Parts: sequence; C-alpha cells; structure tokens
Amino acid sequence: MKLELHWQILIGMVLGAILGIAANMNLSSRETTLNAGLPSGVESATVRDSTNLIEISWTQDGQLQQWVVDPTGKTEDCVLTVSDLEKESPTAAQIYHLAPSYAHMIGNWCKRIGGLFLRLLQMVSVPLIIASLASGVLGLGGAGRFGRMFSLTIGYYLTTSLLAILTGIVVTNIINPGIGTDLRLDVAKAQVASTSITETIMGQVENMIPKNPFSAIANSSFLSIISFTILFCIFVLQVGGTTQDRFRSLAEDAFAVMMKLTTAIIKLAPYGVFLLMIYVTATQGLAVFRALAWYMVAVGMGLALHAFVTLPILVFALARRSPFALLRAMMPALLTAFSSASSSATLPLTLNNIEKRAGVSNRVSSFVLPLGSTINMDGTALYEAVAVLFIGQLAFGADFTIGQQIAIALTALLASVGAAGIPHAGLVMMAIVLQAVNLPIEYQGIILAVDRVLDMFRTSVNVWSDCCGTTVVERITLRGQVEAPDSPVDTGLSGA
Ligand code: ASP
Repeated sequence: MKLELHWQILIGMVLGAILGIAANMNLSSRETTLNAGLPSGVESATVRDSTNLIEISWTQDGQLQQWVVDPTGKTEDCVLTVSDLEKESPTAAQIYHLAPSYAHMIGNWCKRIGGLFLRLLQMVSVPLIIASLASGVLGLGGAGRFGRMFSLTIGYYLTTSLLAILTGIVVTNIINPGIGTDLRLDVAKAQVASTSITETIMGQVENMIPKNPFSAIANSSFLSIISFTILFCIFVLQVGGTTQDRFRSLAEDAFAVMMKLTTAIIKLAPYGVFLLMIYVTATQGLAVFRALAWYMVAVGMGLALHAFVTLPILVFALARRSPFALLRAMMPALLTAFSSASSSATLPLTLNNIEKRAGVSNRVSSFVLPLGSTINMDGTALYEAVAVLFIGQLAFGADFTIGQQIAIALTALLASVGAAGIPHAGLVMMAIVLQAVNLPIEYQGIILAVDRVLDMFRTSVNVWSDCCGTTVVERITLRGQVEAPDSPVDTGLSGA
C-alpha cells in the first residue's frame, strides 16, 4: 500500500526534525586551530563554534584579531548572523567556513540539496501562473464576471488580514510577552533596510504596470506578470471570435502540461521537506528560544486561533465546505510552505492541490492564489502586530495606547501587502511598522534569532488563508451557475 502524499511529507518533516535536533545537540560544538590553507596574510587562526556563539580569532601581521557571532546580541561588538559576518569581515567569514561545527556543516549541505527541490518549484512557477491565469480568465467568458471576482477577492484579503491583526493584538495584550523579562535592548545591530510606507505601497502599484512584460517574466515579478496576463486576456475576450477560441485552447493546453509537470515535481516534496527540516533544526541556536519563549507563544497562539477558528468558520459559513476536508486536501502545500517558509515557492503546489485534491475550479483559483501569494498574508500581518507590540513592551514596559495600536494595525496590514512571498520578508517589512509608532528599527535585532521558526508558521497560515479565500470566492461567484464539467464543487478529496 502506498502512503498518501501528505503522510509522506509529514513523515519526512518529522524525521528531518529529529535528525536535525540530534545533530544540533551532539555536533554543534567544535574548536579548531588552523595553521594552513588560511586566507593570505593570516598566520594562524582558531574557530570556536558552539550552539549559541561563534568566535573566530586569528593573527595577521603580528596582531590578534577577533570576531564574534552571537544571535542573542548580548556579546559586545558582535554580529548576529554569519551573513552579517560575511559583509563585515570577509576574512573572518572565510576562516569560519574552513571549520564550522559539524551541525552547521550538515545543515548547510541539506539546505543546498533541499534547495534543488525549491528551484524545481521556482522553475515551473512563472509558466504555471501565466497558463493557469490565462485559462482561468478566458474560461470566465466575460470581463464583467471577472470584475465581480476581483472585488470579492480583495474584500476577502482585507477582511481576513484585519481579523488576523486583531487576533494578534488581543492575544499580545493578554499574554504581555514583553513585560517582566530580562531581555536587554542594547542590541542595535540588526542590518535591515528601512523604507517608508508610501514608498512601499507606491512600489507595489508601479509593479502592477510593468515597463516591459518580458523583463517582468525574466525577473519572476509576480504582480507584474499577474496584471499583464489579466489585461491581455481581458482584451482577448474583447476581440472575441476565433482569436478568443485559439487563445483559450492554447492556454488550456499549456496549463494541462504545466500541471502534469508540477504533479511530477511534487512527488519529490517528502525529500525536499526532509532536507529543509534538517537544515532548520540543525543550525538554530536553542538558548535564544528560551529567552523569547513568551513572545513565540503569543505569535503561535494568535496564528493558531486565526488558522483553526476564524478561517474555518469562514469556510464553513461562506463556502459551505468542510474545513477539515479542505485542510486535509491542502496538506502537501501547507507542509511545504512550513518547511520552505516561502509562499511563492509553494504556489505551484497550492495551485495543484486546490484543483486536483480539493476540487476547486481553476477559473477562481488561478486568480485568487497567485495574487494571494503576494498580497494576502494573514500570518505575516498578525506577526508584525505581535512583534511590534512585544518590542514596544520591552522598550517602554507599559502597554500601548489605543491610538498607537490602531496605527500598528493599519501599518501591519500595509506591511503584509508589501511583503514578498519569500523567507524573512516579514522581518524586513517590520521596519515600517516600528517607524509608525516611533520605535527604533534596530530593536528588531532582538527577535531576529527566532524569525525563521516563526516564519515557517506564518507562511503556512498565509497559504492556508489563500486556500480558504479561494473556496469562499468560488462559492459566491459561481453560485447559481450551472457547473461546467471542469469545476466540481464540494467534492472534498479526489486523489493526489
Ligand atoms: N515568508 C513569508 C511568506 O513567504 C513572508 C514573511 O516573511 O512573513 O509568505
């Protein structure tokens, strides 16, 4: 008997986590003295790599030099991550890469090889989005129907993101994760670029009007690709006649081929997820999790409430579907979102699962999912709100005023719209929210160390909200219509 795909992925995930944690616990300390193969000018060097601290020292021209990587930011004159070290001192980074701990070594190789699976997904994502969107819009048969679907989709995105933020704010006000901890705030070391809110939103609007659609395709600029494809298809419908028929059958053929290719790639998901989980669990410093435990509990609880209470209620009440059947059908996509922390990389799986396993019409999913993967991020919005309130509590000890909380809610919403569907995008956007309530952006250094883990959870919620939205929009837009043979509704599961 062959196990269903989501079970295979789940097993890969658990096995990867167990092996990664074992490597983290047993192989993460290593001290090496190096005398040969060093960068030019370096006479001798020592690398001390332990779970929560990396120290690199060397002598050059008779002078002793030292760099420390401390993800908690507690050591004086440290950097927070190895990527920061690569920027600040290439020599220190070069020496470190000669003798990292075995846990780091294993983790980095797993990231590299697991990354091949993500590359395969990235490879199919642009042609899949174009073919899927084109066959969806041309299948709708009229610009009027498209307009209705468009406003419903945007309405769903806004409502659920605001509900998520509200949940985050309420949970943080109850748990108060930043009150009474001994975390210090002198960690002005995060290197995150800051932009203003107007800049970010304007940038997104500009993205919707690509100067050159072909360069947008070459750069995988999702928003540009989506808007141009929709515009193109609307005008195909305007031309009508044989042109419309030819384009429609071309789009449907291309979509069928891309779907087959994606289905083949998805079979590799259990292995990809296994390797990515080893990478995450083997390379994370564990001590920092203790210090930030209450903050993580607040984010986790907020995400759980939104994912398991709010969204299922919407699916049940508005889409008239079983949320459990939908959750089960979308498991491969959700688990991949979890281990890759990227909604964009997961998109081919999401598109495939929703049509093949949940039986949602391609006419709706081809529009709601690609757009949702870039602008509908409930998990990210919730996380922004909780993180900024937490930092505020650390900085001022007291709760925020209602006015400040409203400012946080609105900017968190815009930041989540502006965040890309890639790992850590939410952290980068947080600068905007911090500025809105006059908190120094450097404070986010304190939550950097646990961001990857929280990113995995919020990305799954981002993808889950897109899936729930697809069923809601489908039910409302296609209600009352005679179902075409390609759009079964309410079928629950239908194979992998
Ligand atoms: N990683 C998230 C996503 O891809 C975005 C974020 O960092 O919050 O959906």
